[in-house]
Amino acid sequence: MFEITPLPAFKDNYIWLLTRGNDAYVVDPGDAAPVFAALEAAKLRLTGILITHHHADHQGGVAALVERYQPLVFAPASESITGCNRPLSGDETLDVLGVEVNVLAVPGHTLGHLAYRAPGVLFCGDTLFGAGCGRLFEGTPEQMTASLEAIAALPDDTLIFCAHEYTAMNLPFALAVEPENEEVQARKAAVTARRAAGLATVPLMLGEEKATNPFLRCDQPAVIAAARQHDPSLASTARGGERRAAVNPKKSQIFGAIRAWRNVF
Ligand SMILES: [Zn+2]
Repeated sequence: MFEITPLPAFKDNYIWLLTRGNDAYVVDPGDAAPVFAALEAAKLRLTGILITHHHADHQGGVAALVERYQPLVFAPASESITGCNRPLSGDETLDVLGVEVNVLAVPGHTLGHLAYRAPGVLFCGDTLFGAGCGRLFEGTPEQMTASLEAIAALPDDTLIFCAHEYTAMNLPFALAVEPENEEVQARKAAVTARRAAGLATVPLMLGEEKATNPFLRCDQPAVIAAARQHDPSLASTARGGERRAAVNPKKSQIFGAIRAWRNVF
């Protein structure tokens, strides 16, 4: 397996550096400067780049890296990615530094968004965050629900390498959705202490996300109740004077209501 090192970038991004011997890959190099610094410090050669989606803070450094190293650039075929020479659309299997990596299509945040899975780890870009998920800039709640379900189906001990340090920012919302969830309460205290000590909260542990992340819990009664409180179309409906519960809402409708609430929280 390759080694994985975070390269902090911008305000709260993580560029992931993958190394084996003297060869390296980076995931989502939004800025070339921290990548150059890390490669030069360890005398590494950049042989490949994995891109999850087209936003500038994920691909802004690609052009400069390509100019110096001519790496393979794996990226969503349907999105505009500088220097992409290995277009992907999901379900491919790659050889990354001798490790088998599976490509997952996870539309929602953007339509071509990809995640990269190696044994025990997932690089998910802006799809899943600590106690949160990416905004739906391009996709629908149905697409994002399916993408999050595909991630949730991985083993609970999967380490999730997302692209932003957002966990502390997201936990107050998770607690607003599920104020009685003791695991969310405990996680908020633990994350506050970690951040105060200057420590990262990423990688995430998938099992912990499934217990505390409202966007992976849209089938839970407490989350459904909270969604109904914030979206009148999901609440009980009055018809012909007879008050009755709305037909069981779909998981994607609950997700959509919780995501819309998060946008204005
Ligand atoms: Zn993004």
